[in-house]
Amino acid sequence: MTIGRDPRGNIKRYKSFSDRFWDKVDKQSNGCWEWLGGTNKGYGAVSHEGSMKLAHRVAWRLLNGGIPSGVLVLHKCDNRRCVNPEHLYLGSYSDNNLDRAVRNPSNQWR
Ligand SMILES: [Zn+2]
Repeated sequence: MTIGRDPRGNIKRYKSFSDRFWDKVDKQSNGCWEWLGGTNKGYGAVSHEGSMKLAHRVAWRLLNGGIPSGVLVLHKCDNRRCVNPEHLYLGSYSDNNLDRAVRNPSNQWR
């Protein structure tokens, strides 16, 4: 929560970006934190700093501080809308392809 002033000069409490972010998460009984906002290609998507970001990457950044460039945030749970940091891990593009090939062999030539 941040305290600021609205355009008329009244003191107002603003919810910070992270408060608003976690408000849009539905914690499921299976442990997944499903993103309730918009989606892009099945992944949770959120507008931040003027551009659309993937919600699970934002979740990772909010809790872990950063993602090295060229690194993907991957899901352990296969739920693209899940933003539970415990279901996420960092990997490279080749990890991602390998992962897909293992889980879904028919996809490996795409
Ligand atoms: Zn999950």
